Amino acid sequence: MIQLKNVSKIYKRNGTETEALSNVSLQVNKGDIFGVIGFSGAGKSTLIRVVNFLEKPTAGEVFIDGNDLNTYPMSELRVLRKNIGMIFQHFNLLNSKTIYQNIAIPLILAKENKKVIKERVMELLRFVGLEDKADSYPNELSGGQKQRIGIARALATNPSILLCDEATSALDPQTTNSILQLLQKINEEYNITIMIITHEMSIIQKICNRVAVMENGKVIEEGNVLDVFGNPKHASTKNFVRTIIQDELPETIRQKIPEIPGSKLFKIDFTDKTNTVINDLILKFGVRVNIIYATMNEIKDDTVGHMIIQLAGNSINEAISFLQSMDINAKELV
Ligand code: ADP
Repeated sequence: MIQLKNVSKIYKRNGTETEALSNVSLQVNKGDIFGVIGFSGAGKSTLIRVVNFLEKPTAGEVFIDGNDLNTYPMSELRVLRKNIGMIFQHFNLLNSKTIYQNIAIPLILAKENKKVIKERVMELLRFVGLEDKADSYPNELSGGQKQRIGIARALATNPSILLCDEATSALDPQTTNSILQLLQKINEEYNITIMIITHEMSIIQKICNRVAVMENGKVIEEGNVLDVFGNPKHASTKNFVRTIIQDELPETIRQKIPEIPGSKLFKIDFTDKTNTVINDLILKFGVRVNIIYATMNEIKDDTVGHMIIQLAGNSINEAISFLQSMDINAKELV
């Protein structure tokens, strides 16, 4: 659906060059809620803006439904952009226009007739739960309501892709959740592919199915959200994941670990296999298993968990060989 191949973007300003994107390749599939996470300056905004060619890449190709945007003349790019809605951190509503007029703008630009515009705007207002605000002005609305209007405007031309540029960063946590639920509803009910850029891992955790991690203009890790959260590879990804999943042993708990000569500490994944493995450790190998620490986190419709256990007993070496042969990512902690 969206494919970037070796995309680079260099900004030139006052004789200095900034490489905002460096050889980025990624693919967003139809129906994905694809998250791009990174710190400020990582290149996320540039990335999302090359998807609709608001920024033209310095090198590389962007394909939408298999079509190379480099080959599009301006007139076709305008048609393409009707198929790609976008929402923004600061909503970008026109304060001098009513809510109705704001949502109608893309339809007026598309030269739709008044009856079609009215039906569509009212349908969108119902969809975002703000039918009673048609005649209000943006400054009469809360942040969450403004973003709902931003979303309604972005959906006006029936796009198949929605780009979200830090769309919840200006909102409180409760409002953020309600906007995320609305995005999920849009994805499910309208089958719209969503690409979200954010610096908050909790956004990825709540609604994305796939994620790319960006640093210094590069995608440093990419994959299914559950895989990336469960087993992050790159140091920066680990740091992002740790903002959600505490997988390290807190020092206060470490100090309380019983002192058993010859015992060993292991970190294991907390999956549906873990209980069976622990039972086997106890029953087959006769070792003592103390559960020192455990975490479990909801990731979209699934869970990721870790457990830190202490093993002790005569057959500890056999037990450890068994533990390490099981598919629960056992690692010794020293
Ligand atoms: P992010 O969205 O992750 O914060 P950006 O894509 O906004 O990252 O920026 C990536 C880099 O490109 C930064 O160093 C930024 O200063 C630079 N940059 C972004 N837009 C421009 C621009 N229009 N002109 C010059 N430099 C820019």
